[in-house]
Amino acid sequence: MAKWGMVIDLEKCVGCQACTVACGMENNRLPGENWQDVIFFSEGTYPSAQLKWFPRPCQHCENPSCMAVCPTHATYKTEDGVVLVDWDKCIGCKYCMVACPYGVRFYTDEKPLVAPDMRKVYASKDDHSWNPPWKMPDAREDWKHGVGIQPHDVVSKCTFCYHRISKAPPGTPDLDPQDPKLREFTPACVVTCAPGARFFGDLSNPESNVSRIIGDKRGVRLLDQLGNKPQVYYVTGDGGAVPSSRAINKKV
Ligand code: SF4
Ligand code: SF4
Repeated sequence: MAKWGMVIDLEKCVGCQACTVACGMENNRLPGENWQDVIFFSEGTYPSAQLKWFPRPCQHCENPSCMAVCPTHATYKTEDGVVLVDWDKCIGCKYCMVACPYGVRFYTDEKPLVAPDMRKVYASKDDHSWNPPWKMPDAREDWKHGVGIQPHDVVSKCTFCYHRISKAPPGTPDLDPQDPKLREFTPACVVTCAPGARFFGDLSNPESNVSRIIGDKRGVRLLDQLGNKPQVYYVTGDGGAVPSSRAINKKV
């Protein structure tokens, strides 16, 4: 059984946010609620301050703290290493949102992040939180795996495009979008990344490209000291870096 994971090369990422848009279209996200976010921040002080960016999907942790606190077992891990939310079981208590150290979960019934409120513009006539104009085919709706248009009162997050990767031929080491046979099984953000900064494959296979890149380029995990063991790795080199940890404010 595969253990799916992602590698993001920060030296190649140009911060274009095509991944954010592709994910939004693929997964019917509300504007401003990005499962695949690119976070912009500045580092250093004038005159040498630099604008930087950092792409950050759900880390699909090996030890997901979101899962540990979920009282209904709505948050669970699949055999192939993907952390998902069963929308039929989620009671919207948001414990998982508090427990996730990466801030990647969303609850759509809160104040809209951008105006106009698209939930009103494209109002839904059923259980869904809204009715996006580009709506994925109904056949793909799969609430057990948190796939489809988010219903009211539940929490959602990146699924690694579970509706695509779960149909990949068994034993595939890497879902390489350059391979026409594998493209339809590859997460939308990986397919759309123009500079090829994203790689997706089986972390348990030492021969996979993702395992090789992590080994050869010394892949790092975000906030690794917390013990969540993310299955998203970043490779940095000279041109990119994971953001430094926030300084702890000392009391005066
Ligand atoms: S990043 Fe957060 S939501 Fe995703 S698996 Fe880890 S703890 Fe859970
Ligand atoms: S909001 Fe849903 S997924 Fe999150 S802890 Fe509560 S029941 Fe579980």
